Amino acid sequence: MGEVDIALIGAGIMSATLGAIFRELEPSWTQVIFERCDAPAEESSSPWNNAGTGHSALCELNYTPENHGKVDTAKAVNINEKFQLSRQFWSHQVEKGVLGDPSEFINPVPHVSFANGEDQVRYLRRRYEALRTLPLFPDMQFTDDRATFDEMLPLMGEGRAAGDRVAISWSNNGTDVNFGAQTRQFVDAAIQQGTEVRYGHEVTNISAHGDKWKVTAKNRHTGESQTIIANFVFVGAGGQALPLLQKSGISEIKGFAGFPVSGQWLRCTNEELVEKHAAKVYGKASVGAPPMSVPHLDTRVIDGKKGLMFGPYAGWTPKFLKHGSNLDLFKSMRVGNIPSYLGVGVQEMGLTKYLVTELLKDMDARIDSLREYMPTARKEDWELIIAGQRVQVIKPAGVPRFGSLEFGTTLINNSAGTIAGLLGASPGASIAPSAMIELLERCFGGYMIEWSGKIKEMFPSYGVKLSNEPKLFEELWDHSQKVLKLER
Ligand SMILES: Cc1cc2nc3c(=O)[nH]c(=O)nc-3n(C[C@H](O)[C@H](O)[C@H](O)COP(=O)(O)OP(=O)(O)OC[C@H]3O[C@@H](n4cnc5c(N)ncnc54)[C@H](O)[C@@H]3O)c2cc1C
Repeated sequence: MGEVDIALIGAGIMSATLGAIFRELEPSWTQVIFERCDAPAEESSSPWNNAGTGHSALCELNYTPENHGKVDTAKAVNINEKFQLSRQFWSHQVEKGVLGDPSEFINPVPHVSFANGEDQVRYLRRRYEALRTLPLFPDMQFTDDRATFDEMLPLMGEGRAAGDRVAISWSNNGTDVNFGAQTRQFVDAAIQQGTEVRYGHEVTNISAHGDKWKVTAKNRHTGESQTIIANFVFVGAGGQALPLLQKSGISEIKGFAGFPVSGQWLRCTNEELVEKHAAKVYGKASVGAPPMSVPHLDTRVIDGKKGLMFGPYAGWTPKFLKHGSNLDLFKSMRVGNIPSYLGVGVQEMGLTKYLVTELLKDMDARIDSLREYMPTARKEDWELIIAGQRVQVIKPAGVPRFGSLEFGTTLINNSAGTIAGLLGASPGASIAPSAMIELLERCFGGYMIEWSGKIKEMFPSYGVKLSNEPKLFEELWDHSQKVLKLER
């Protein structure tokens, strides 16, 4: 039985990011990664399993809700601040030679918000007015001129009724991120720097071992079981984080539950159409739909090749991973979290209705949804692919709600700071670096002063609100544009 300083469960973007941060903060700490698949980033971090949007609230309308005619920008600013930390961290990793060619994982793609109908157009204009003066949204633009719309988004203009009332706002500062490629680059560097990666190894148990943790893993090829003692465990197991944290027995996970939502995309198979579109276009979610199900017509850049996809269409399976088991949901049920499930079941009738409607959609119905964006869409130009699995967090809540469904990411850690895991999926990979800083603050608070110099090198705006420091924002932005090769 070996010993290790840091055990990372899962080789997705979260573990890859945390591993890189630790290698810089404490190069002598030993690390091991357990991954049940035979390669990194086979689940949500794989490029076709997520949308690859570098979420910074440039185009996602769910970050700017309207209350009594006023657009609230607080969430948008918060997400954007976090994405700035990601850009800084990635730039630093490129400069250090940990990450390789940035164009393999990040590319400039304009982010566009799409309004259809008078009410949406009015809202979009207000949103644009609210954001355009904020320092972190410097190049927001808006038009409700039909000719400009048709010229900028030919696939969306062609075949559209002349009387359709449409508008867009856009930013050329948007990005497409291939989190799979980025994970692979991080893991390759980790191996070179001495991290041991055990592929095909599924962690089956985590149990307390004094003030350390005993991690048990099964080799999925040989059936052999092995254990390791770790000072700190990060459960970066995506959808499987909930059951693994439950196995650890920490009190902080009590009452938490998970609600799996699967997804599908339409992927364009017609190269001509792919070439005609160059933007990530986000619309408004339909009533009752969860925020992560907002449809978008999305340019992708994967392995140096342009792609186009539309979706996601929600689906449902009880699996917690795309390559998981149909028993996942049932196995995660505990006496302590059944009230949370029931509470959410009663409150979220809109979500249930939405999921049922989505599940009943056949290919013709999916193409009809696509036609709201691209009126001339034809079935023969698109194929259906399965997206990654999301497990939405259900938080315990008191009487009378018992549980509340969350659409964000939730970090869970024990009070001693020796184990932590990440639940939920949104805004997900884009803010992996800031999620991992939060982990450091919570679990390694005693080291933060000693680490402050190195943290500032990795995250120059750490502790500063860039929205209050426009000059610093500009400086850091220009630097990351250059290093990440995002200048056009
Ligand atoms: C449909 C969809 C669209 C999305 N769109 C975006 C987007 O546009 N932008 C964005 O930023 N984010 C997006 N996300 C979210 C993003 O993909 C995730 O937040 C992110 O990939 C999660 O990374 P992770 O490392 O936590 O999990 P994962 O990438 O799922 O990695 C977890 C790893 O743990 C392994 N594992 C699980 N259990 C075990 C075990 N017991 N033992 C060993 N290994 C185990 C799995 O095999 C997997 O490799 C989207 C997600 C989905 C599903």
